[in-house]
Amino acid sequence: MKSRKLLMIPGPIEFEPKVLQALGAPTTSHVAPNFIESFGNCIALMRKVWQTSTGQPFVVAGTGTFAMDMAAANLIEPNDHVLVISTGYFGERFAEISKRYGANVTILASDAGNVVSLEDIEKEIASKKYKLITITHVDTSTGVLVDPKPIIELAKKYDTLSILDGVCSVAGEEIQQEAWGIDVVLTASQKAIGVPPGLALLVVSQKAMEVFKNRKKPVGNYYADFNNWLPIMQAYENRQPSYFGTPPVNLIAALEVSLQQIVAEGMENRFSRHQKIASAFREAMIALGLKLLPVHKSLSANTLTAVYFPENITGSAFLGHIGKNDVILAGGLLPSHKTLYFRVGHMGSVNNNDIIAVIAAIESALFAGKFPFEMGTGLKTALKILND
Ligand code: PMP
Repeated sequence: MKSRKLLMIPGPIEFEPKVLQALGAPTTSHVAPNFIESFGNCIALMRKVWQTSTGQPFVVAGTGTFAMDMAAANLIEPNDHVLVISTGYFGERFAEISKRYGANVTILASDAGNVVSLEDIEKEIASKKYKLITITHVDTSTGVLVDPKPIIELAKKYDTLSILDGVCSVAGEEIQQEAWGIDVVLTASQKAIGVPPGLALLVVSQKAMEVFKNRKKPVGNYYADFNNWLPIMQAYENRQPSYFGTPPVNLIAALEVSLQQIVAEGMENRFSRHQKIASAFREAMIALGLKLLPVHKSLSANTLTAVYFPENITGSAFLGHIGKNDVILAGGLLPSHKTLYFRVGHMGSVNNNDIIAVIAAIESALFAGKFPFEMGTGLKTALKILND
């Protein structure tokens, strides 16, 4: 009997066996030739995944929060104006981080499940000289997907740097960093990038690097300072050994394998696989009579889905029953709605079997909770979309 449960939360996700093998391989020195080659390859592969030829990648031990912290520490100086477009929990976090570096922060927050209107963003960004704007591409607390393109256009129009929190989107949702003109796109390893937790990954435009180089004050965070990491990234890219802080050797070896797999699949194929699986899952939930947290399907992410618990079934009992069916899902995260909904991650190496197993487990939990529905409705809806 398989003792393993299917992990379908919005990160960490299920990882590819070859990625886990790389992680479990004997640790080499961080200046060993094979490691230098892996690190150099990661930097080149990141540019392909982020779709930029000129951006500067950074690979540093840390989580997604550290990637946010690193972007803020290097680009914000005291009294800079920062505009945070918030669609949930992680937008609020970016505001907190920005304040730590002395920014005057304005938050434009949407209602739960919705996005901030472009009109409101333009009104605000035109009202004073903003140094930068932050956007959460997919807020993992709500499952809301923001279209960053028109917001980035506004940032360019008003000469404001842009940071895209892509922790729940990079390598799952379409991002063309260079073509769209985004200054920083950041993520963490444990989501659609497909590597166990522990890596903060950022790609920074040359324009943002110039702004950083022209800072008036030193960066107020020693570990995050680009001055410490830029020479390391450049050295490894040129296949030279270097040291600032010991790199997480095994995680970087695993990252190389995962990035190679992502590039081999092709970015277009990868995005459409995510879209198809997400659409099958969303339509299955709707067919079962459940309600999504995003107020409109067009605002629903392709990397995770947030669904309200059915009426008259308590969340813990529902998720407990799903767990007994060997599927692990996540509860709510948005403080105002925390107990009202659950979240399903479907990103990275997710396949049709995984999503079918999730829908089957949800149908079992609905049946156990005496929810009025016809068994098989969700599965039938999803299978039609997946086999189209
Ligand atoms: N931003 C978003 C959109 C996220 O989903 C997360 C993690 N769920 C973070 C930031 C923070 O990442 P971490 O938990 O790795 O610090």
